[in-house]
Amino acid sequence: MPATVAIIRCDSYDESSVFDAVGRALELLGGAERFVRDGERIVLKPNFLVGATPDKVVNTHPMVFSAAARHLQAASAKLSYGDSPGFGNALAAARKIGIAQVAETLGVTYADFSEGRQVSFAEGELIKQFTIASAVLDSDGLVTLPKLKTHALTRMTGAVKNQFGCIPGMLKGEFHMRMPDVDRFAQMLVDLNRLLRPRLAIVDGIVGMQGNGPRGGDPRQIGAIIVSDDLVAVDATVCRIMNLDTALVGTVTYGTAWGLGDADDITYVGDPIEEFVVADYDVNRSPQSTTGSTGGGTLAKRLIVPRPVIDPTKCTACGTCVSVCPVDPKAVDWANGKGVPPVHDYGRCIRCYCCQELCPERAIDVRVPPLGRFLHARQ
Ligand code: SF4
Ligand code: SF4
Repeated sequence: MPATVAIIRCDSYDESSVFDAVGRALELLGGAERFVRDGERIVLKPNFLVGATPDKVVNTHPMVFSAAARHLQAASAKLSYGDSPGFGNALAAARKIGIAQVAETLGVTYADFSEGRQVSFAEGELIKQFTIASAVLDSDGLVTLPKLKTHALTRMTGAVKNQFGCIPGMLKGEFHMRMPDVDRFAQMLVDLNRLLRPRLAIVDGIVGMQGNGPRGGDPRQIGAIIVSDDLVAVDATVCRIMNLDTALVGTVTYGTAWGLGDADDITYVGDPIEEFVVADYDVNRSPQSTTGSTGGGTLAKRLIVPRPVIDPTKCTACGTCVSVCPVDPKAVDWANGKGVPPVHDYGRCIRCYCCQELCPERAIDVRVPPLGRFLHARQ
C-alpha cells in the first residue's frame, strides 16, 4: 500500500515550535484521531537508550515527547510511556533525559518495560515467538517516538529499530547472539514490528546523531519532524536525509518485502524532502559485505568486518562494555586486570556492537580492520 510521510521544518526544540510542527504533520495525515480512538490506552515508546542530557542527542528530546503526548491526549488517548534501555535503570534514564518530568506534568504514567510475557507469532517470517514487555501487550496500541541516529550495526536507527526496546532488558542480548548477522537481525526487527504494529511514528529529526552512533556520535542539525503510520517509509525517509542507499538498510528492504510497509511508493506532504537531505551526513555507506557481523565465522571475515576498538585515553575502566557483552565467555573482558581498559577477543566477538553502543565515555569506536580497508579500496 502506498505510504504517506509528513515532513515538517522545525529548527529548534522550542516547545511551541515543536508542538506546532507535530500538529501540522498530524493534520496533513488526517489528524491524531485517525490513529487513536477515544479512551484507548496508548503506550508511547521514546528512545531512551541511556541517561544523558538532550544536548548529547542520544535520546528522543523531551519536547518531541511532550508535543506527541499533548496531541494524542487532545484526541482523548490515555497515555503511558516506557522503554527498556540496554543497560541501567529506565526510569532513572528518563529522569536524566527530562522525559519523566514532562510526563509527570502531562499526567502520562510510567510503564515498566522490565517484565515481559512470551507471545507466539505464527506469521513471523523468521521469529515465531517473542517476549514483549507486559506494559506493551496490555495496551491498546503503541506510538513510537524514535531519534534519528546512525548505528554501528544497522547503519541508521529510525522507526523500526526503536521497537527493540519493547523486549525487556537483557533478553535483547539473546537476540544478538541468535542473530549475529546484520541481515537476520534486521529481519527479526521487521517481524517484531509486524507483531507489534505501531500505530504511528513521530521522529525527532531536529538534531540527529552522526558518526559513532547510536551513543558516541556527534550532533547534526537537520530540522525535521517526520510522521507517518508507515514505519518502513519513515526509515526510507531517514536514509534519504542521511544520503544513505536504502538497499543497505535491512529494515527498509525486508520491511518492504515482508509487507510491514512500503518504501517504494512514498508520497511526501509538508515541506519538500529535498530541503532536508544532508549530503555529507557522516554515516557508514560501505558495501554490505564489510558491515555487520560474522557470527564469529571464518578467519577471513574476522579480518575484514568492522570491529569495536577501545580508546585507552578515554576509557575509565567502568566495566559497562564487559557487563553488556552477550557472549559467554565474554568477548571483551579484563584480560589485563580490573582498573585498566578491558580487552576485546575478536575471535569470540560477534560484532553486535553493544559495547560500543553503551560505553558511557564514547571510548569505543567501530573500525574497519586493515584488510577490510584494502578490500574496500579495490571495490
Ligand atoms: S564501557 Fe567504555 S569506559 Fe567503560 S570499560 Fe568499556 S571501554 Fe572503558
Ligand atoms: S565485544 Fe562488543 S561487539 Fe563484540 S560481542 Fe561483545 S558486546 Fe558485541
